[in-house]
Amino acid sequence: MTSAEIRQRFIQFFEKRGHVALPSASLVPENDPSVLFNTAGMQPLVPYLLGEKHPQGTRLVNFQKCVRTGDIDDIGDNTHATFFEMMGNWSLGDYFKKDAINWSYELLTSKEEGFGLDPQRLYVTCFEGDENAPRDEESAQIWKDIFEKNNVTGERIYFMSAESNWWQPGPNGPCGPDTEMFYDITGTMTSGLTKEEYMKADTEQKVVEIWNDVFMEYVKKDGKVVGKLESKNVDTGSGFERVTMVLQGKDNIYDTDIFELIMAKIVELGSEELGSGAILKSKRIIADHLRASVFLICDGVLPDNKDQGYVLRRLLRRSVNHANKLRIEAGKLTEIAKAVIETHREAYPTILERKDRILNTIEEEEAKFRVTFERGFKKFNKIITKPVFYYDEHKPDNLTEQLDQSDKTLPGYVIFDLVTTDGFPIESIKEIAKEKGLVLDMKGFEEEFKNHQDLSRAGSEQKFKGGLGDTSETSLRYHTATHLLNFALREILGTHVSQKGSNITAERMRFDFSHGAKMTDEEKKKVEDIVNQKIQEAHPVIFREMPKEEAEKIDAVHVFGDKYGDVVKVYSIGNETDGYFSQEFCGGPHVANTSELGHFKIAKEEAVSQGVRRIKAVLE
Ligand code: ATP
Ligand code: MG
Repeated sequence: MTSAEIRQRFIQFFEKRGHVALPSASLVPENDPSVLFNTAGMQPLVPYLLGEKHPQGTRLVNFQKCVRTGDIDDIGDNTHATFFEMMGNWSLGDYFKKDAINWSYELLTSKEEGFGLDPQRLYVTCFEGDENAPRDEESAQIWKDIFEKNNVTGERIYFMSAESNWWQPGPNGPCGPDTEMFYDITGTMTSGLTKEEYMKADTEQKVVEIWNDVFMEYVKKDGKVVGKLESKNVDTGSGFERVTMVLQGKDNIYDTDIFELIMAKIVELGSEELGSGAILKSKRIIADHLRASVFLICDGVLPDNKDQGYVLRRLLRRSVNHANKLRIEAGKLTEIAKAVIETHREAYPTILERKDRILNTIEEEEAKFRVTFERGFKKFNKIITKPVFYYDEHKPDNLTEQLDQSDKTLPGYVIFDLVTTDGFPIESIKEIAKEKGLVLDMKGFEEEFKNHQDLSRAGSEQKFKGGLGDTSETSLRYHTATHLLNFALREILGTHVSQKGSNITAERMRFDFSHGAKMTDEEKKKVEDIVNQKIQEAHPVIFREMPKEEAEKIDAVHVFGDKYGDVVKVYSIGNETDGYFSQEFCGGPHVANTSELGHFKIAKEEAVSQGVRRIKAVLE
């Protein structure tokens, strides 16, 4: 069965049972800034699940475009895509468990109207019950009756915990149990499985989840079930790519007809010998990321350094890196994008209408990234041809000897600078380092990263993973102190001083800067005095976002070069009437006022390499 037919059958099956077909909502949620993307069919329908009347009635069916950035690390496996379509049928206070489960079964197994899957390869889970709600015996009984009636034998219904079989959008509101359907993709497990066998098969991806029926029947308040819903809903979600995979007898989504044109184009463009696992993974990542990119741009997202745009930028840049691995020529991502458009133009005619914008955006972003990459590559080569690197306390213990002997360690802040300032991919750094026998101070790099978190960038980074970053107060204080120190050094030593890196822990700050000579005790004292004076004067610390040219005009100190794109954040210390004495391109965050810093003291001043000095300082 072709994917186009599957699409049609799903909709028609439910239309015939009184459902109205809805178009997919945009990937970018309307009126909900708390999430970057729609991640399930349920999301755009939340108001109706909460009781608002839907203009199309109480039975709905749809395909919803979804993007799950949380699954990004899984891309390349058999069943997870960044972008995928979720098929769903909906009952808004209409039918409930019996119809929903029976229809799921019928659609999956009916040869005439449905997908004709082998019922002997079907396995299902139901909610086992907990302190909030009883075991979902009702759903289990419905499955039992269905299996009996259809002579489907063997053990295939399992009770599972709330972790997998309970749905709730938050601590308050409607919630309820769900029943999940799995299909044995090996075709070898047809006579039933014990729970242990089933769980093992699930881990090994031998059974794959293809559908999930959620039954909203309870109401929660402050995390506790307080009663039953008057008007119960059904919300189902089935992965289109996975169902297609199962129906086309494949063990991974990339071998389905959904990816056929796209994968073929990648193979055609690449000149890397195919076959190895890493190559296969790169192919899959490119296919996945371009599919996601095409749909994101179609829905109005443009590459950016924050939010949705940052996700798109990362997807495209990763695609370039993987294209390089396959030795796909520059400028060819658009060819792959065309295959995506060709594949989906029928189901989503708007991607054809917006074809030019989609292709231009991809072309520009690829070109821009390649320039950045070239520059980073040159700089990297220049750095590593210098004979000696220095090293410091971040040296991992097990590498001590090697480092002492060879002195060929790339310090964390150099890696950080290459990655953030020059946009040079960490994977490339690792590869070249391996070729040249260099050791990378990855721990130092990560620390550096933590301490230079750009709020919006890191914010997106975190959202990308699905979580929130934390910034301790001490780090904030030390971070602001680096700006004061930078200012003081330039006052005392001269404006040739520029920051080469910094590192903050809960106990101290480290600040590297360009300067040709050891600082005298007098210079150190003067620098300390200036910093402490600025702390005592209690200056507000503010930031403004402005176009880069404007920031350059006000002469803001450029610490990490071209890091923040066209719109930059500038942190200023001082006030508008007397002027700002410190203005730096910086992502923040900082304290609100310098008075929060305490007393500043230089603990050590030393050389790190030719022309670079390091200050370690504490706030007391
Ligand atoms: P999994 O545990 O396999 O990641 P899930 O529990 O996250 O799945 P749900 O949130 O229940 O999945 O989503 C409903 C359906 O959407 C799943 O049954 C599956 O078919 C599909 N699905 C979920 N995540 C992805 C993905 N990253 N790529 C493709 N399909 C997906
Ligand atoms: Mg998942």
